[in-house]
Amino acid sequence: MLNKEEINRLIKKHGLDDFKWFNASEIVVSRWVRFKCQFGCGSYGKKGCCPPHVPSLESCREFFSEYTDAVLIHFSGYFKNRKEHDKWCRQNDRQLLKLGNDLFHMGYYKSFVIVSSTCRMCRDCPEDDGVCKNRLASRPTAEALGVDVFATVRKLGYPIEVLKDYEQKANRYGFILIE
Ligand code: SF4
Repeated sequence: MLNKEEINRLIKKHGLDDFKWFNASEIVVSRWVRFKCQFGCGSYGKKGCCPPHVPSLESCREFFSEYTDAVLIHFSGYFKNRKEHDKWCRQNDRQLLKLGNDLFHMGYYKSFVIVSSTCRMCRDCPEDDGVCKNRLASRPTAEALGVDVFATVRKLGYPIEVLKDYEQKANRYGFILIE
């Protein structure tokens, strides 16, 4: 039985205070997202949690349909450069993994965390044809699972823009699937 109050307390305990519950059926999965991964992304084929080393789009749709509830977790900030931004993403995603671990141990055995950015858990990632040396920590992004993050978060009233430079505020989103 889902106890949202208990989960809200846990999320806040992890220092995450900008989040929203929503119905998992509102997650938009689109074919074009997978095409964007395949054509034009430098990570394609390299990391173990990026396409093509992820389930098919049909399987992703089926996966999302097996959940009733989801939590959108919003991260935002300003950064001077790529290095600062990537470090922030790594910290955020480590927080999400710890939260997911706690949810599982609270009895939410089906809960699944989707991280907010390309996996950066290890500084010495092989980035070699899907080889992953840390499967325990490896999680896909929503985009890797075919989620149209722009459409999904806008539907939920959250901001997201294509960033042109580091003057603009970065918005990143993690998801928790739960039931
Ligand atoms: S968990 Fe580590 S080795 Fe595996 S994809 Fe992520 S960064 Fe690379």
